[in-house]
Amino acid sequence: MGSDGNQIHAMFFPYMAPGHMMPMVDMARMFAAFGAKVTIIITTMNALRIKNVIDRDVKLGRDITLEIISLPSTEVGLPEGCENVVSAPTPEMSIKLFHAIELLQPKIKKLFSDLHPDCIVSDSLCPWTLDIANELGIARIAFNGSGFFNLCLLENITLYEPHKSIESETETFVVPGLPHEVKLTRSQLPDIVKAKNKFSELFDKLRESQRKSFGVLMNSFYELEPGYADHCRNVLGIKAWHIGPVSLVNRDTVDKVDRGEKTSISKHDCINWLDCKKPRSVLYICFGSLTRFNKKQTTEIAYALEASGHPFIWVVGKVLKTSNGEFEDEEQELWLPQGFEDKNGQGLLIRGWAPQVLILEHEAIGGFLTHCGWNSILEGIVAGVPFITWPIFAEQFYNEKLVTQVLNLGVSIGNEVWKAWATEDSLVIKSGDDILMTINAVMGDTEEAIDMNKRAKKLGELAKKAVEEGHSSYNDLKRLIEDIKMHRISKSNGVIKNSGHA
Ligand code: UDP
Repeated sequence: MGSDGNQIHAMFFPYMAPGHMMPMVDMARMFAAFGAKVTIIITTMNALRIKNVIDRDVKLGRDITLEIISLPSTEVGLPEGCENVVSAPTPEMSIKLFHAIELLQPKIKKLFSDLHPDCIVSDSLCPWTLDIANELGIARIAFNGSGFFNLCLLENITLYEPHKSIESETETFVVPGLPHEVKLTRSQLPDIVKAKNKFSELFDKLRESQRKSFGVLMNSFYELEPGYADHCRNVLGIKAWHIGPVSLVNRDTVDKVDRGEKTSISKHDCINWLDCKKPRSVLYICFGSLTRFNKKQTTEIAYALEASGHPFIWVVGKVLKTSNGEFEDEEQELWLPQGFEDKNGQGLLIRGWAPQVLILEHEAIGGFLTHCGWNSILEGIVAGVPFITWPIFAEQFYNEKLVTQVLNLGVSIGNEVWKAWATEDSLVIKSGDDILMTINAVMGDTEEAIDMNKRAKKLGELAKKAVEEGHSSYNDLKRLIEDIKMHRISKSNGVIKNSGHA
């Protein structure tokens, strides 16, 4: 069943992790707002996470449907209902989840074949969707959840291997062939980039399937990283459309609150607390949906926050309890300084899930201490706030360099070592005094801090403008929809069987 007349039918298949699923659902909603017919393939438990927001879009007259399928969690040894990386918080569990998702292939193939959309937007982590799409002659568009800068850095590090010609883990090297001088140390690179391991084959396959796709969909906007958007298209030869920041599709407060997991604080409590604070005075601290610290590190952060004297909102999440990968959040009072939460309302702790987009856009927020997940970076940029960068793993160190070395919008906490999973025995990454110094550098009133604030505010305006009619991201979404229509016409004329990258 194809789509009628001028309307395209776009199908979306998100990966089941908040940092991937949330932006892809936002993208799907942008397509629907643009008049496309949209189908999101989603598993039972994940459907509960997005149902409310989709129901509201349907009420607004948008053509958007959920195609709900069951995930074979128990077949791979996961507990029933464990369908998202947030509920699979150990390396072993997330690998099992990855396999459970792979087992969906026959179901996905049947859906593609029955509904026969004009394109399928698939997370890059599912390279097999390219094979199915090719077999059925459907355009497959890849989404990898990150920006142009990251893509270019990764390509050039893989191509030139600059980290192999230096002596030590801590010596800095420059990534060749980029628009700016971007410096990294070997210790900040992901394990898989440094040496071949059991995931190397998969990693190569992901990159290859991305290149062989109809194109790549980016959650970014041109004004944020123009040199890298151009480099990606003109030098690397990757066909890409930038349509972000996609979180901006959430215009109503209720959509912002409903985005992702169920929030652990009410909208009113959160906003009331922020309303009592001076503009740009509050530091917001959140390490994304997956990062875990042990108690020693969390105590150091608590010390620094208290000593800084700045009001703050700290999304504590869960804290690592044992080295075998269990997490709990019951004993926080044991490691938080005495009376920490009651001190003149200085801080608001959120144990669990925060309405991040809603918090960041409040005028009281003056800084964002972040783990540098791409979504968090973009959301902070939209909010126009400067950053304290504390990357931990994945591509977070690359994102940090964009913020600190290219955009000049933040100060690094100075983490030197990429490490995927903390254990109870992990060393403290940064001491309370180091954290305190960095907080003061960003939240203080030095000339540098004031300039950084000005730059952040200006970029925030550009970010919001990018998705408005006639501006860069809006235009690229329009161009993408035209490209999909052209693909459909060429296909029906028998000109192409399927297309590869530009
Ligand atoms: N997020 C949120 N509340 C939380 C933690 C995270 O809304 O308490 C959202 C955040 O706004 C962002 C996403 O979860 O959109 C996290 O994605 P990111 O790429 O920043 O990091 P990841 O979780 O993938 O490491």
